[in-house]
Parts: sequence; C-alpha cells; structure tokens
Amino acid sequence: HIRTRFAPSPTGFIHLGNLRSALYPWAFARHHDGEFILRIEDTDLERSSQEAVDVIIEGMAWLGLDFDEGPIYQMQRIDRYRAVLKQLVEAGYAYPCYMSENELNKLRDEQMAKKEKPRYNGLWRPEPGKTLPVIPEGVLPVLRFKNPIGGSVVWDDAVKGRIEISNDELDDLIIARPDGTPTYNFCVVVDDLDMKITHVIRGDDHVNNTPRQINIMKALGATPPVYAHLPTVLNDLGEKMSKRNGAMSVRDYQKAGYLPEAILNYLARLGWSHGDAEVFSKEQFVNWFELESLGRSPAQHNPEKLLWLNHQYIQQADPEELAKATKPFAHAIGIDTESGPNFTQVVALLKDRANTLIELAEGAKLFYIPAPVHSKDAIAENIPAAIAPALTELFEMIKATEPSKEAYGAAFKQVLASHKIKMPALAMPVRYALFATTQTPAIDSVLVVLGKDEVLKRLSAVLE
Ligand code: GLU
Repeated sequence: HIRTRFAPSPTGFIHLGNLRSALYPWAFARHHDGEFILRIEDTDLERSSQEAVDVIIEGMAWLGLDFDEGPIYQMQRIDRYRAVLKQLVEAGYAYPCYMSENELNKLRDEQMAKKEKPRYNGLWRPEPGKTLPVIPEGVLPVLRFKNPIGGSVVWDDAVKGRIEISNDELDDLIIARPDGTPTYNFCVVVDDLDMKITHVIRGDDHVNNTPRQINIMKALGATPPVYAHLPTVLNDLGEKMSKRNGAMSVRDYQKAGYLPEAILNYLARLGWSHGDAEVFSKEQFVNWFELESLGRSPAQHNPEKLLWLNHQYIQQADPEELAKATKPFAHAIGIDTESGPNFTQVVALLKDRANTLIELAEGAKLFYIPAPVHSKDAIAENIPAAIAPALTELFEMIKATEPSKEAYGAAFKQVLASHKIKMPALAMPVRYALFATTQTPAIDSVLVVLGKDEVLKRLSAVLE
C-alpha cells in the first residue's frame, strides 16, 4: 500500500519548483490508490509562518492536489520526537556530547588546517572499554546519533539509481539540541516511519541527508522507504530557482491569469514525460505517472511554454467555466459583467486569441464601454461618404434578419456583392461605427455578441 508525502518548510516563498515536489508524490499516490500526506516542517521557528502554510495549502487546493492526511505540523509532535530520542539513548544508539561550541570550532580549525573535512571526532562517543571525559559542570549536552563505523549505506534511488555512501563520510549527527529539541533529520525519520511513508519523493537537495536518515531508521529497527530524488528545477537562465532571481510564486501565477490546469500540466512535464504528450488532463497524468519515467537531469523553467499551455487550456475551456474564472479579472479592470452583452458569449468569442485570463478580460472591455460618440470629423475620416449607401443597406438587412452569425454573414455577403466592394471596405467602417476602433474580433461574431438592438443603435448614429 503506497503512502507518500509532501513535506514543505513554510518559510515564505513557494515557487513552481516547490509545487512540483507536491505534484509528483500526489500523482504517485493517486496512481496507486494510496495515500498522500501533507506534513508541515515548521521546526525552524524563526523562519516559519502560518502565512506561508496558508499559501502552500491554497496553492495545492488551487491545483487540486488533495491530501488524505494533514496538515500535520512537526511542532505538534515534539513529545513524540522526545520519546523516540529517549528510546535511542536507552538502546545505545545515541549519546550525550558535552563538547562546547568553542571546542568544536577549535577542532574544525585544526582539521581545516590539515586540509581534512571537518567532522566530529567522537570524543564523547561511548565504546566498550573507553573512558569518557569528565562531564563539565553546568553544560547542557547535545544528543548525537551513534553512526555505524565502517561499511556503507546503499539505496536504489528511483531516479538516480544506486547510491552508496561510506559510513566513514558520516560523523555522529546531532539529533537533539542542548534544550532537548530534536533536529531536522531526526524529525524527518520519525515522521516518515510513523506516517508509514513507502516512497519519499523529494528534491535532490536532500540526497546528502538520506544516508543519515537511513542509518537512524535502521537503528530504530525499521526498513527505509524507497527514495526518489528529483533533479532541481532551474529558471529560464539556468540558475537555481529562487525569489531573488525573479521566480514567481504560485499566487503570482494566479494573479497573472494562469489556469490551474495549465500550471499542473506544465509542472508535470518539468522532469517527467510520457512519450511526446504535451497537453494532457490531470486524469491522464495520474494514469501515466510512474517513477521510472522521471528525468535524471535538471528541468528548466520555460515561461513561453507555460504561456503556450495556458493558451491551449483557455482555448479548450468550456465558455461557462472560463467566464467564471475570468470575471474577477474583468471586475478588476472596471468591467461590469452583469450589464451589456452576455459575458460567457464575449469570452467564447475571445478565447481563441487569449493567452491569459487578463488578456481575455482586456479583450472583453470593448463590449462594456459606452457607445462611442463620434465627431463629424472622425466620421468623415473613418467612414468614407462613398460607403454610406452600402452601410445603409447593411443596416436595413440587419434590422430585418435573425440575430445569428450566419444571417449577419449572409447580409454582409449580399451587400458586398450588390455594391461590388470587398469585405474590409465595409467591415472596417462598421467596426469603427460600433467601437471607435477597427481592432475587433470577427465582425459577424461581434455583431451577435453586442446584440442586434445595440448594433442598430450604434450604426444609425453614424448614418444620420
Ligand atoms: N522540508 C524539506 C524542504 O522543504 C523537505 C524534506 C523532505 O521532503 O524530506 O525542503
């Protein structure tokens, strides 16, 4: 039975790369009818905030990444960690170390001077027959994990393949601070075990923690889960994604008029592929998702591709749904969607050309501004006197016809034929008469959306 988790540290900024670390374990759990757990790694009290937790949960909800358990906050599990620390000490897998900060620094300097990798020297590590130093007075010890000596830690990473780390590379990790609070790597181990996580799918910045975590797990008598370490997501310049170099947060994308379906599709492809499929539904993604098809090299963020995908999703969207999603953007730029043409019709007319919901709202604006008031000069300049007879005939035909795209199209055709003129010669003046601009979508559709009464009213104003 598959159980996965997303374990973010709520330290402020959630970019697309972070969310991908939620998407993959979610998809893997859904694919296997397993469970997906949200765990909030908030033990860094200085940097963690509830605001950041909210952003994470909102972002996941927006993308439809539902979790079966959680959010579970590490800060609420401190008693549990303390109990396991005690268990490790009693079993001889952890020991108090009284080495002071100063002594540690001195040791590090000596090792650096000898060009050695700085590591704890095991001074307080109990061994059979070894006499430990005298416990200094008034010093609170840290707890260190008694890492195995000799041998190595090996795991078959589902993305990176077999990884082997010699135990000699790993010193005795601090698992509790002098005040007794557990440290990061220790909490992760206890959580992954307690939550019965079968697959740890996370960023490869944690590869270095994995051998330490596996050793602690083994000391607790547990079998480690499967690990899948995802290659980094680089920004479009090939740098590690971060707020500092301009990465956008999930909320930024929401505000910029991206559809969650497009973001999800985009994230899915950042380091995973299924043949040459580029546009696919969430259901297809879940069906297809396998750890074997995760990429091994860093994925690069490609804003143009994301925009392209967003366009695809806008184009495919059901107009009702799309109108609903676009309304807040329309309201934000002063469009009263409840007055004037039916907003769903407007959206349906514009969606083939829009890349974002903002563009869609901008395009819709045309239909909600008041009828233009043309000056005589403006009319003379934009509506040639010679076109007036054709325009009058068109007016009469529109008046007499069914308000449909087909009927309006036919009316145009007939007027063009009887006056021996070409489409732009008639359509441009009509556009200008209706909107005081010639930049509009296809004229027959525009007439339908604007509504027959309004069209006649606006045309007659220039014909007088
Ligand atoms: N809290 C860690 C992070 O945000 C993830 C830890 C894990 O997945 O094991 O990078």
